[in-house]
Amino acid sequence: MKTSNWLTGLLFTCVVGGLMAFVNADEYLNGIDWKEPPVIAPGEHGGPPSDAVVLFDGQDLSAWQGADNWKIENGAMICGKGDVHTKAAFGDCQLHIEWSAPTPIKGSGQGRGNSGIFFMDNYEIQVLDSYGNKTYFDGQAGGIYKQTPPQVNATVAPGKWNVYDIIWTAPRFNEEGSLKSPAYITALHNGILILNHFELKGDTPYSRPPHYEKHADRLPIRLQDHGNPTRFRNIWIRETKPAEGEPVRKPFIRDDKGNERPID
Ligand code: MG
Repeated sequence: MKTSNWLTGLLFTCVVGGLMAFVNADEYLNGIDWKEPPVIAPGEHGGPPSDAVVLFDGQDLSAWQGADNWKIENGAMICGKGDVHTKAAFGDCQLHIEWSAPTPIKGSGQGRGNSGIFFMDNYEIQVLDSYGNKTYFDGQAGGIYKQTPPQVNATVAPGKWNVYDIIWTAPRFNEEGSLKSPAYITALHNGILILNHFELKGDTPYSRPPHYEKHADRLPIRLQDHGNPTRFRNIWIRETKPAEGEPVRKPFIRDDKGNERPID
């Protein structure tokens, strides 16, 4: 076949194929009556979106309990004596939190800029000055304590601000107390993926293996006092849930004339 004939053939095939695709305008419909997703206004520059609960905006510690010995300086809350808990309880959520390791640098390993964010009071994602500071890897910043290191170390120098954006899926428990489904965590550190749908093996203590023990569907977020004046700012949280919809019929195909047929 000459090149020109071959090209003509190819062109013909494309045109006919395109026309057939146009004529054959079948549409797949999944049979689910979706609710319209809520419309929200995104926050600007890491600020809270319109549906977020603000946990700290630089002004006061009213969203926290146990914070009598923590103080506010230049719009940041500074770790003082004792852990603090949110007054509100949360299950599945998206948390935005910014933290800055103390300057001047003091201590090393786990003793340098140590704090932590505990989801549901039990499950710690580590906050630590991991900028040029070696420690055990599943205890460095962004790790799930004693369970996994972060995929990469994206920590910035002490005094600069680190940003965690974390998606938390709460564990579920059966009536009699056994685990129905584990907790999962996905986290970005300064915009970089460090934990991708990591499945937690349980809680995160120092001195024993992790395990799950049945607890409420919602529990407070806890920030750890580990004896270092770590600073936090711009903390907001969104409760998350899947899109809502009811299956109202089996999936089907609708053609361009409006005729409907089941999927074989
Ligand atoms: Mg810690």
